[in-house]
Amino acid sequence: MASSQDKSEYEKSSIVLKKALTLMVKNRIPPSPNHYSVWYTFADKSNFDLYRELSDVIARGFCTETKSRELYTKYIASASERSLETIKRDLEKMVCEMSSSITDASAGTVLFQSKINTSFDKLKKAEGGELTIEETMSVMHEMVKNSKEVAKSVEIFSRQLTKAQREITELKDQISLFQKDAATDALTDLLNRRSFDLDLASLGEYDMPFSVIMCDIDHFKRLNDTYGHQVGDIALKMVARIFIEQTRNSAMAYRYGGEEIVMLLPETPVSTARQMADYMRRRIEKLSIIIKETGTKVSSVTASFGVAATDGGEPPEDVVKRADLQLYEAKRLGRNRVMPMSM
Ligand code: GH3
Ligand code: MG
Ligand code: MG
Repeated sequence: MASSQDKSEYEKSSIVLKKALTLMVKNRIPPSPNHYSVWYTFADKSNFDLYRELSDVIARGFCTETKSRELYTKYIASASERSLETIKRDLEKMVCEMSSSITDASAGTVLFQSKINTSFDKLKKAEGGELTIEETMSVMHEMVKNSKEVAKSVEIFSRQLTKAQREITELKDQISLFQKDAATDALTDLLNRRSFDLDLASLGEYDMPFSVIMCDIDHFKRLNDTYGHQVGDIALKMVARIFIEQTRNSAMAYRYGGEEIVMLLPETPVSTARQMADYMRRRIEKLSIIIKETGTKVSSVTASFGVAATDGGEPPEDVVKRADLQLYEAKRLGRNRVMPMSM
């Protein structure tokens, strides 16, 4: 929820942003998200090593685009992004190897073709009685020898193809694993905040009508304090599961913050979103966690919800803000409820 602390955070970010952009313009760095994250991190001095290295570069005169890209890979790119980079390089290497094998194999076939043609010409002479039996036999031997050579190179090539196919399958599996890693939250299996920001932006880009359900677990701090963080985690996972069960078609659920979950429902009327939120609220209310060691039963988990919708034609962040205000209202009125009450 927005607070005065958020506001000063916002002001601080704007100052850093201005500083970052000025430096980027000065160094003629294109305004791409990757470059931007390098210069933003530099301007807000949140990564000491990056700050030191880039300060040195700037002190020597000018930072090139390549250097900025290198700094991105070194300091900003996540481990999964770096691994994707490695996979990409592996794939490129394999394609290069394969294309040279194909070139070798086809060169071999061209050579074979010309040898065959020569042999056929010789055989024609044999038909005309111009070759002796011995000469004809030697032409035949040569043909057999050449075909064996080609068969061998085709076999090597096909073995290489099989190996490449296996490697491609492995790399494809790795890529989808990394893609999942980059998009989901490890604790809850919900999509992460980054996915939310991207999906919200694309809803805005296509000017789509959509609804938002914003949810925050009630008195979660108290639950943690009473039963411990681990029980808190279990409760959070159980709540997340209820959301995940409701995701269908393009309706997606994301971990918005610590114990805040948000759902984006494209092309969904606000009344449907409200009903869905109230259904989830009732499911959460019925949850119970048994702590094995002590046999204690935790059955006091509840959550509050705020719902908002748009027909498009406004910044999508405004819709999220409205849902957030409704959530705030639900908390104010006593929690464990969906706001607004009716549509
Ligand atoms: P309210 O009903 O007003 O929402 O009260 P609250 O206690 O839920 O709200 P508050 O924002 O004060 O506290 C949220 C707590 O959620 C604080 C934090 O320790 C806890 N939390 C955030 N993320 C996690 C998590 O991943 N696991 C656990 N166990 N606790 C978390
Ligand atoms: Mg909260
Ligand atoms: Mg809470």
